[in-house]
Amino acid sequence: MITDFNLRTFFHPWRIVRHRRFLARAERWPADRLKSWQDARVRELVRYAYEQVPYYRELFDREGLKPGDIRGAADLPRIPTLTKDIVRERAADLRPREFDTLRPVPVRTSGSTGTPLQFYADRDLAIAKFATFWRAWNRAGYRIGQRWALIAGPVFDDGALFRRVRSMNALYVSSFNLTAETARRILGELLRFKPVFLRGYPSALYEFSRFIGDPAALRRLGIRSISTNSENLLPFQREQIEAAFGCRVFDVYSQWEQACVIAQCERGSYHHEAEYGILEILDPLGRSAPPGETGEIAGTNLFNRAMPLIRYRTRDLARISPKSCPCGRAHTVVEAIDGRIEDVVVTPDGRRVGRLDAAFKWNAGFDFAQVVQDAPGGIVVRLVRNEAFRPEILADLEKHLRDRVGAALGIRFEFPDRIAPDANGKIRFVINKQLHSPAPVP
Ligand SMILES: [Zn+2]
Repeated sequence: MITDFNLRTFFHPWRIVRHRRFLARAERWPADRLKSWQDARVRELVRYAYEQVPYYRELFDREGLKPGDIRGAADLPRIPTLTKDIVRERAADLRPREFDTLRPVPVRTSGSTGTPLQFYADRDLAIAKFATFWRAWNRAGYRIGQRWALIAGPVFDDGALFRRVRSMNALYVSSFNLTAETARRILGELLRFKPVFLRGYPSALYEFSRFIGDPAALRRLGIRSISTNSENLLPFQREQIEAAFGCRVFDVYSQWEQACVIAQCERGSYHHEAEYGILEILDPLGRSAPPGETGEIAGTNLFNRAMPLIRYRTRDLARISPKSCPCGRAHTVVEAIDGRIEDVVVTPDGRRVGRLDAAFKWNAGFDFAQVVQDAPGGIVVRLVRNEAFRPEILADLEKHLRDRVGAALGIRFEFPDRIAPDANGKIRFVINKQLHSPAPVP
């Protein structure tokens, strides 16, 4: 998703600038003003969906709902949620009658697990999305026009390692085949290009910085800030990337389907971008989870008419903070984004254990770790060892893992030379092959 800003988006520079100015004003609104703006958008979206989209017409009629029953975001829970399976099965019915006039752009997810999912984005969505990301990059100190570089996934069809993109004043770097040798070539090109801002997948930036190893070499780049996106940023990755580049990481959470965006502010808090979507956190029964409790992120995008997704279940986990942020924004603070529902290991007694990354933070001795559950009774811990590796580390690591997964789960270690990314160029920290996972990687 990090590279999918369609060039057509930029045929409307004035509309992007106008939306960015709106976002600058709305960012300072008090909570009640933000809420009434959202409520008006929700009413408009629901009316449109009912009048134009066969799936919603059928759903509302079946539930005995009228568009007027939804007066704002607080009434959304009256509408049943939308799952990835429904989007896959009812894709044609989720398009509005005026679909063709919106000149929709297909967005296809190509996840490594499960069946691909296709949805459509219209121009209004593209403009709102770019302006929303622009605001998030501004908070990280980036100004449009400054040089930046992207380190992410398989960016080029022809397998090129990097390429300058003049129209964007950017250097795009593919992290798909990162090795010590390609990392040095990338560093050389970055030194020539001199970007002030870096964007990328956390795993790619992490791996790149580990391959370079020498913080002095990376700091010569003079990168002022970094924005990560597309994967769950793990604490040990943030620590390594910030220390290696000598600047701060500003993380952004979003999905291919653009249900909602959550981005970090200058104070480090994650804020839900309320001018882009509606955020809900759902408990396992699909009810609204209270602040402080982890649940599934469900999002409602407020702009896309080409395929309106109302209460779209992302399969990602987060919890809302009951606290506000000292930055003064009224936008909901999200305490933690906990990765995907499937990113857990399941113990023999049926317990689902997430956040295993915490068990790894005590150890040096390896450059990368991955946990794979390929059998009900056991996991494989894959470690890419480095020169600091000592065999004693394994006993210590197993102890920290046992504290979390218990004694009954089998733990086996493997030592590959590297951990290969999936087809999207992403490296997932936990892969559970036992859980049925139809959800593609966003
Ligand atoms: Zn803040």
